[in-house]
Amino acid sequence: TNLPADPIHENTRRQVEEACYSFVEPKQTQNPELLHVSKAMLENLGISEADADSDTFLNVFTGNDIYKNTQPYAMCYGGHQFGNWAGQLGDGRAINLFEVHHKRKQWTVQLKGAGETPYSRTADGLAVLRSSIREYLCSEAMYYLGVPTTRALSLALTGDLVLRDMLYDGNAAYEKGAIVTRVAPSFLRFGNYEIFAARQDIGNLRKLVDFTITQHFPQLGKPSKESYLNFFKEVTNRTLDMIIHWQRVGFVHGVMNTDNMSILGLTIDYGPYGWLEGFDYGWTPNTTDRQHKRYRYGNQPNIGLWNLFKLANALYPLIEEAEPLERILERYKVDFEMKSLAMMRSKLGLETKAVSDTALIQDLEDNLFLIEIDMTIFFRKLSSFKKDSDSKVDGIQLIEAAFYDLKALKQPVIDKWQDWFQRYADRLRQENISDERRKEKMNQVNPKYVLRNYMAQLAIDAANNGDYTLIDELFQLLKQPYGEQPENEKWFAKRPEWARHKVGCSM
Ligand code: AMP
Ligand code: MG
Ligand code: MG
Repeated sequence: TNLPADPIHENTRRQVEEACYSFVEPKQTQNPELLHVSKAMLENLGISEADADSDTFLNVFTGNDIYKNTQPYAMCYGGHQFGNWAGQLGDGRAINLFEVHHKRKQWTVQLKGAGETPYSRTADGLAVLRSSIREYLCSEAMYYLGVPTTRALSLALTGDLVLRDMLYDGNAAYEKGAIVTRVAPSFLRFGNYEIFAARQDIGNLRKLVDFTITQHFPQLGKPSKESYLNFFKEVTNRTLDMIIHWQRVGFVHGVMNTDNMSILGLTIDYGPYGWLEGFDYGWTPNTTDRQHKRYRYGNQPNIGLWNLFKLANALYPLIEEAEPLERILERYKVDFEMKSLAMMRSKLGLETKAVSDTALIQDLEDNLFLIEIDMTIFFRKLSSFKKDSDSKVDGIQLIEAAFYDLKALKQPVIDKWQDWFQRYADRLRQENISDERRKEKMNQVNPKYVLRNYMAQLAIDAANNGDYTLIDELFQLLKQPYGEQPENEKWFAKRPEWARHKVGCSM
């Protein structure tokens, strides 16, 4: 590439100006051990299973060896964190190893947790087993759910201990260190563009945008104001599509800072994310965001727009006209309404459009909020609803397993649900599709299995005790989230009571 690299080749923390990235070296690890490798990703990268068994594989993907003729680097980016410009951030604990071209696809392979870079600021560049299991399992699960996402190739222990928390007694709490090898066509984020705009380094901003278009959006043609605008439009569409998918499956990212927004519209940075159990627009898994709940489930589409506004500002110096950028941002709102409605229709198994659908969906969402009800179980069970059934009786029976507290199911709540099922049945009778066919189609958009927070936690607890079998069990389970998998019925269950107030942790 002709992108400027940071000429100082060392890992010391500093402000890196006029550069897209810095060459760095991963940290040596004590006693690396692979815990899991994704076969699908091996195939994508053209690595044989025999090669995956080699010492080279182990050493390269835990940072102990640098693969021949490659030069690992960390990227420089900035970002808006929780609404405020945070200045330079960068790959503080991610190190890009190399690019792989295989079967006409291009992949960047990076280590997360392989030690300090110039961008580590006050932190150590390391990752612990807990957060690494969460990222490894969730990113692959999202892929199989059909949600655009970065992928994961491997999960490894480093054999080193990592200090994360101080206990109340002043003693240090060490945890097992780990490294996830992440893979994506590109790890570029909104923040990569924002940092150059913030530094008024328009020359490098242009180079980076031109590079991005040539590499990842070649259909947009040669660099020009027009292709820059089309680039922004494309990023806007992809970001919206990604968020609509999140809303569909009940995924809450938890830290939608602009440095965590992929320029390719991929879900990136699996930190304190969580899955909706009880349907709740106000829910966030991020304990550091409990006051303002900026990144709550129901706010994700708005935050997507807010972040795109920041990207538009960053691209403005290349376009020098506000109006066409504003038009694209306005369009996002209209498209959101349209795509969100289409997504909800698909969750309800509606093929045609009726004016009454908006009200039907709105009232469903109100009902889901009346007393705690499990989103995943609700929509999955709903697919068995029969349009000619006695809707008043059958509807509630069908979804009974989704209520967290049946004692809360009092008459006024029952009335509302009965009314809704009546209208749903009426609406289904306007459709031309059989109950069986509708069920099939609904089961392709309403997953049966998602990575509930407690499931990841069980795998983490076992792994901390040296038992890694649950990691593989969940990994295999989540490869077919829409399948029936009768042998795995135990994972199609509400969150157990002990897990109610436990949430994911990011660091
Ligand atoms: P995040 O909130 O995970 O998106 O991280 C925000 C910034 O902090 C990014 O620049 C990360 O690379 C950096 N960061 C997070 N954790 C660490 C760590 N353990 N060591 C160094 N940098 C980190
Ligand atoms: Mg991040
Ligand atoms: Mg993170």
